[in-house]
Amino acid sequence: MIQAIKGFRDVLPGDIELWQEIESEAVKVFENFGFKEIRVPVLEKTALFSRSIGENTDIVEKEMYTFEDRGGDMLTMRPEATASVVRSYIQHNMQADNPIRKLYTIGPMFRRERPQKGRYRQFYQINAEVFGIASPYIDAQIMVMLSHLLDRLGVTELSAHINSLGCPCCRPSFQNAIKEIAEKSGENLCDDCKRRKDKNPLRILDCKSVHCQEILKDAPVLTDFLCDECRDHFDIVKSSLESQGVKYTIDHKLVRGLDYYTKTAFELKTNMLGAQNSVAGGGRYDGLVKSLDGPDVPAIGFAIGFDRLVDVIAASRKPYIRTPEVFIMAPGNIPVSAVFSWICDLARDGIWADTDYSGKSLKSMMKRADKDGAKYVLIAGESEFEKETAILKNMATGEQEEVSFSGLVTRVIKIIRNL
Ligand code: ATP
Ligand code: MG
Repeated sequence: MIQAIKGFRDVLPGDIELWQEIESEAVKVFENFGFKEIRVPVLEKTALFSRSIGENTDIVEKEMYTFEDRGGDMLTMRPEATASVVRSYIQHNMQADNPIRKLYTIGPMFRRERPQKGRYRQFYQINAEVFGIASPYIDAQIMVMLSHLLDRLGVTELSAHINSLGCPCCRPSFQNAIKEIAEKSGENLCDDCKRRKDKNPLRILDCKSVHCQEILKDAPVLTDFLCDECRDHFDIVKSSLESQGVKYTIDHKLVRGLDYYTKTAFELKTNMLGAQNSVAGGGRYDGLVKSLDGPDVPAIGFAIGFDRLVDVIAASRKPYIRTPEVFIMAPGNIPVSAVFSWICDLARDGIWADTDYSGKSLKSMMKRADKDGAKYVLIAGESEFEKETAILKNMATGEQEEVSFSGLVTRVIKIIRNL
């Protein structure tokens, strides 16, 4: 038997309902905040990701699904969506009439990580990006939007962590300070951090190794190095979140795994999912559009880990799962064409009517109806068929009513809808 690839999984009915609920809430909330949907391909040129995410990041060094296609192009299954949305913004010249765009996209991402709970090789993200607004109020606004979405979904177990990563004018001096500390402790760093200290010293801050954490225990914090502009920006983000009642913690170690972030960075964490504690992450990336040969427009965005958000919600409640409104029972010795047309007509009117066309006995069909959770059964047994009537029975109350074949659909709808 051929099975799905390791780290790739099916989302089955019974679980998918929660995914659908989250997705439809996200669409409603995002559109209320002025966002429009964009769909971008899952396959892009490799250079798009290596240039935007950064050569010395875990994603680009170790996690991408990259292959040469038959024409010799190097292609990559997208590990994240921001790079593709930025590419699309540039390619379609979206800044031409108005540089401001608020875009969201929902779909699968691919990273070759070690599969475990909350960590898959194909996983899903809900992304939102804003282009063309440099104001710190938009940073706060998208965090308010995220927090509002989570409120609507009944999620209370997440905490917001924020930091400022500075900008190209203030970050280098901080980077140097970290590099100096790292250089002094030389051999004691983990192997990853030995490489990081030259290429990407900030990443040492979020290294999981206890040795590296010990070395950086008394390191200075990035927010002490911010230039005036970055500091004012961060202050407004914080006070705006407070004014909207969005709680946060300042996390000096939060640096995010991608190179392109500037100023505001944030993450939503939970302690419900073990080691996979990050449910959403985002931040400002003012230099990215320009660095991919686009116009110099500021931008900010975030990604929600869809799989992990589902797990957080599923731990506290079940999704609403739809069951048939009515199960139609007609034993085998009577014509089934009438049942067929009732089912089609009822479905067109928004009523899920079902049958199994099995021609089995009424008793076994009743069992089926019960198992499927049908709210009503419509019984058209032999004697009813002769009289051209059927019996509609409410499974919960046992109440029943005889309905005539002529006008049956209209009558059934009236009873089911309680009109
Ligand atoms: P982590 O630290 O858990 O690896 P990350 O920093 O790599 O997360 P991002 O690139 O910021 O993650 O992606 C945003 C969100 O996507 C994460 O907060 C997480 O919820 C989700 N995510 C990332 N990688 C995976 C994965 N392999 N499987 C499931 N969800 C993931
Ligand atoms: Mg990761």
